[in-house]
Amino acid sequence: MPDGRSRLARRVKLKDKHIVTRMMDIAAGLPDVIKLGRGDPDLDTPEHIVRAGQDALASGATHYTHPLGLPELRQAIADDIATHGGARYAPEDVVVTPGGQQAMFIIALGLLDPGDELLIPCPGYNPYLQAAELTEAALVNVRTTRATNFTLTAELVEQHVTPRSKLLILINPGNPTGTVIPPDEVVRICEVAREHDLVVVSDEIYARLTYDGHRALPVASLPGMRERTLTLSGVSKAYAMTGWRVGYFAGPSELMPALAEIHHAFAISTSAVGQYAALAALTGPQECVEEMRRTYDERRRALCDGLAAMGIPYAEPQGAFYVYARVAETGVGATEFCERLLAEGRVMIFPGRIYGDYTDDYARLSLTQTVPRIREALDRMAAVVEAIREERSPASRSPSTRSDP
Ligand code: PLP
Repeated sequence: MPDGRSRLARRVKLKDKHIVTRMMDIAAGLPDVIKLGRGDPDLDTPEHIVRAGQDALASGATHYTHPLGLPELRQAIADDIATHGGARYAPEDVVVTPGGQQAMFIIALGLLDPGDELLIPCPGYNPYLQAAELTEAALVNVRTTRATNFTLTAELVEQHVTPRSKLLILINPGNPTGTVIPPDEVVRICEVAREHDLVVVSDEIYARLTYDGHRALPVASLPGMRERTLTLSGVSKAYAMTGWRVGYFAGPSELMPALAEIHHAFAISTSAVGQYAALAALTGPQECVEEMRRTYDERRRALCDGLAAMGIPYAEPQGAFYVYARVAETGVGATEFCERLLAEGRVMIFPGRIYGDYTDDYARLSLTQTVPRIREALDRMAAVVEAIREERSPASRSPSTRSDP
């Protein structure tokens, strides 16, 4: 039987997908699973944004739009970036895409040649890896550790740069880690990028969701960076709009026509109704973002308290809506822990391996349930943790498995 897949399709590694598929299969047969897995807010899109979408449909927004996106939305995006301390962009230098996700593939296909090196934080949001694999670029995983709260440093980047390095991905705040690169470190990383002539993709999709005074510095606003940075973001996370599928990227004028062409080939344009809703999100009242941020913050505290009570350490969560916890502390690897937690405790979380974590020590917990549900998840988790520790304690082992004579 011929394989049927193209050379490029064979390059895309599917092994990590199998973990998610396996977990989805286990969950399908279980009642009342508490899902702290996917990065999809449980909160609904604010009412005024939904209404704008409905009004747009009623007024005939059922056609293609300008390929780059509605001009008024691109202006609103440019204004929004500038308002939050980013670089100034003309609307022609903004492309509205069906989610930030598609922007990653457009950028990879537009900028990478086979053999070019792409530096990506590890663990890091995995579609970047898949996008690079499709272009036959060489992936360079820049491993981060607990020592830097799982954030990139200039030193780490410098250690991995070679003459073939082309693109550096910064995801700030990070997914799956929920951590924020300190602003002075962002400045130093950008110095390395300039020195080695790297193009930076700055994924700032979680930038509005930070806690305890942390702030993700917009990369393109730094000296000498606008001309070498693609700022990638979208409305999915800050406005709870994952299902509307609206993201964007903005960059230097020289790079945009080629990227816009690839976007057109992929999508013609982004859904009109989604764009009108995104316009309402960016130009309407912003209190909803702060309300959601406070909600996640409260959940973050509840989750961290519970993990601490179980003796499970975690990276200090400073942004996004994730907690990256060292579940291997329980005595089993993260993948096994996640599967047992699901099967025995009916709580779904994802092992870090999905995001390229090479240790199988960590798992990502999403803050996408209410505080009472998070507490319930923690109770269930505590029971599973206790069962694992009990099994592994020397007293519970049969004499034949003991190593002492
Ligand atoms: N960037 C990061 C870091 C993400 O975590 C996600 C989604 O989870 C995206 C981009 C893409 O989001 P969307 O396609 O919904 O805009």
